[in-house]
Amino acid sequence: MKRTPIYVIILVVACVASTILAMKLNTMQHSFCPEKKDLSGSPIAGFHKFASDVKWMRLVNYLGSLNTVDESNVKQVAERLEELMKLDPNLEKIYKDGALIMSIADPDKTIEFLTTACNNQYLKNNWQIPFYAGYVMMHNAKPANYEKAAEFFEMSMKRSGSDTGASYVVSSFFRAKAKDMVQKDKSLKGDEKLALLKVLYGEWENNQKMGAEGSYRNDGANTQNLNDRLIKALKDVKVASEDYKPTSDGKKYADMVISKVFDKAHICSNCTAPYDAGEKYCSSCGTSLPVWGLCKNQACKKPLKNGNAPFCIHCGAKQK
Ligand SMILES: [Zn+2]
Ligand SMILES: [Zn+2]
Repeated sequence: MKRTPIYVIILVVACVASTILAMKLNTMQHSFCPEKKDLSGSPIAGFHKFASDVKWMRLVNYLGSLNTVDESNVKQVAERLEELMKLDPNLEKIYKDGALIMSIADPDKTIEFLTTACNNQYLKNNWQIPFYAGYVMMHNAKPANYEKAAEFFEMSMKRSGSDTGASYVVSSFFRAKAKDMVQKDKSLKGDEKLALLKVLYGEWENNQKMGAEGSYRNDGANTQNLNDRLIKALKDVKVASEDYKPTSDGKKYADMVISKVFDKAHICSNCTAPYDAGEKYCSSCGTSLPVWGLCKNQACKKPLKNGNAPFCIHCGAKQK
């Protein structure tokens, strides 16, 4: 019991020493990373992190007590989210989960939150946040702003590179561009399939001009990827389906695209199915095809292996 004062002294000294150390460390951290000091308004021993986690838990509980987020309570939800953002503006889940909770009840406010997060330097590698912003802009906002949605998707594409999420992001980007085109170009008469083909062909032309290096989109929408998308879009424009009747404008445009993009790819001009050397009719739709890949020997003229082998497998003639 006699030693108690010594413990107290040690305790006090330890506290003082750790405070001095923490202050020194803080100064050093700031010299390494000057942005750190505006990370939060209250950087007291990391408690703002803890406080925002607690607030998050309380928000989740509050949300659990609501049947649904609608006009009657969306204002309160937004206020709670805003409080959280002030406390910890870099907490990704506020935007990723929290903002989506209210995207149906208040899409404009949601987009406002997500835009703030998009501009947050600490979250600049997060591709989901701009993707959500684009998604809400496209599906929930009234009226939908497809041009703005495409901008968000583009931002997401630039951030996501070629990971698994990217393909879906790229699809959304092209779809938003097509919807935007339909809205602005009345001559399309609402033909979204033709608009998508035009958007993809525009992208292809752009890639040709800029070269493989020039286009950042080669990350997510590389040439093979883009060609696959084009083939699908061509098919959509050319082949009738339950809810779509091909138009003469669309067919003409599709033929132009086939001649420019797929001049050496040998795809059926009617249904875009690929075909092999020597085939005279499309195996998918029966359309007559320009035959390719035949032996140069006039007496033989049989199809070459793969359509381009250096020697004929039927007569042995050398091909040039
Ligand atoms: Zn065909
Ligand atoms: Zn031959």
